[in-house]
Amino acid sequence: MLNADQNDILFERARAVIPGGVNSPVRAFKAVGGTPRFIRRAEGAYFWDANDKRYIDYIGSWGPMILGHGHPAVVEAVQKAVLEGFSYGAPTEREIELAEAILALVPSMEMVRLVSSGTEAAMSALRLARGATGRKHIIKFEGCYHGHADALLVKAGSGLATFGHPTSAGVPPEVTQHTLVLEYNNIAQLEEAFALHGNDIACLMIEAIAGNMNFVRATPAFAARCRELCTQHGALLVFDEVMTGFRVGLHGAQGVLGITPDLTVLGKVIGGGMPLAAFGGPRAIMEQLAPLGPVYQAGTLSGNPVATACGLATLKEIAKPGFYEALGKKTRSLVDGLKAAAAAEGLPFNADSEGGMFGFFLMKELPQNYATVMTTDNAKFNALFHGLLDRGVYIAPALYEAGFVSAAHGDDDIAATIDAARQVFRTLP
Ligand code: PLP
Repeated sequence: MLNADQNDILFERARAVIPGGVNSPVRAFKAVGGTPRFIRRAEGAYFWDANDKRYIDYIGSWGPMILGHGHPAVVEAVQKAVLEGFSYGAPTEREIELAEAILALVPSMEMVRLVSSGTEAAMSALRLARGATGRKHIIKFEGCYHGHADALLVKAGSGLATFGHPTSAGVPPEVTQHTLVLEYNNIAQLEEAFALHGNDIACLMIEAIAGNMNFVRATPAFAARCRELCTQHGALLVFDEVMTGFRVGLHGAQGVLGITPDLTVLGKVIGGGMPLAAFGGPRAIMEQLAPLGPVYQAGTLSGNPVATACGLATLKEIAKPGFYEALGKKTRSLVDGLKAAAAAEGLPFNADSEGGMFGFFLMKELPQNYATVMTTDNAKFNALFHGLLDRGVYIAPALYEAGFVSAAHGDDDIAATIDAARQVFRTLP
């Protein structure tokens, strides 16, 4: 068939055998409409779809690809590891090396356990917090995503500091009855929750720079209050840095905010694009885990030798002097260019970034919580998304997701993106 759209053909085939045609919902373009692009290959800051159309990639596999695609040192490490075997189910020296590399960069962690996904890491950190404190209740915030473990798939209850309801079918209310969902950056609500339930709270889990409601920072005062209240009430402060870890800076959101959490959850960048995640914290808490302690946690592929090789090679590159300065500068130039282009068109717009992570908003003020993010004009965002996609710029296909710049993005890519955005801004409804 002449000029048949290969993405359409693949999407039809995919939908016949995979629910919705995708293996993770946001890939389906459900929010923005249209056919998802099926990616054939990637290199540096680009990937190519099934029609061989090239895109500047600002999702970077939703965060892991901080060096861009196919970095030579990472490819070499993975190729070498593959030849030595895919998985042994027995310990390796490389797991120690990766653990040592992570601990050297995240001072709040004295020990770490490696797992295979951010969901698994957050779920395990939660179990550990409950096991270590002997308490049941947990606090999370509306708009923060911590993977799809049952207890964390919760939306806010109807009243202030009331327990939440499942956001997914298949999650019994009994499982979420211990999860308090609070508004992000709302200090008064946080204080009330601790006043009411403080002695029963095992942990407070937070994305301290949230990337799952676009890009929203915890204010310094809010983050500090989270720390204080946890300490006062004997609850553990858990920073979910699956997205921000080694992305917003070498020491994550905790480094940016200058706050020491009790437990840290990592993923994405530490695997360099392979399935790898981790959680860690003080020795006394981590030693509660099996085989030493009573909190069970395990994984057939945990610390996989190929994934750890990929992660180690990635960490080696990002720890080089000046890496985050250069990445941060580049990301800021993108954000500043977009703001200037929008201002020239009189478009209500704002944007923010930290390290290689950014977000932009079709509104004048930077939002402070999920409810404000969700007041975004959907039709306008969708038109912007498709306008950029047509022009070869791939941003997240949902307005509540952050964006990612890699070390492989060049100044010319940033300039081309701003230029594309300028063209699209002129056409927005
Ligand atoms: N925590 C945060 C902050 C995330 O952004 C994500 C995924 O996007 C997860 C946890 C879950 O990680 P995974 O998709 O690897 O299970």
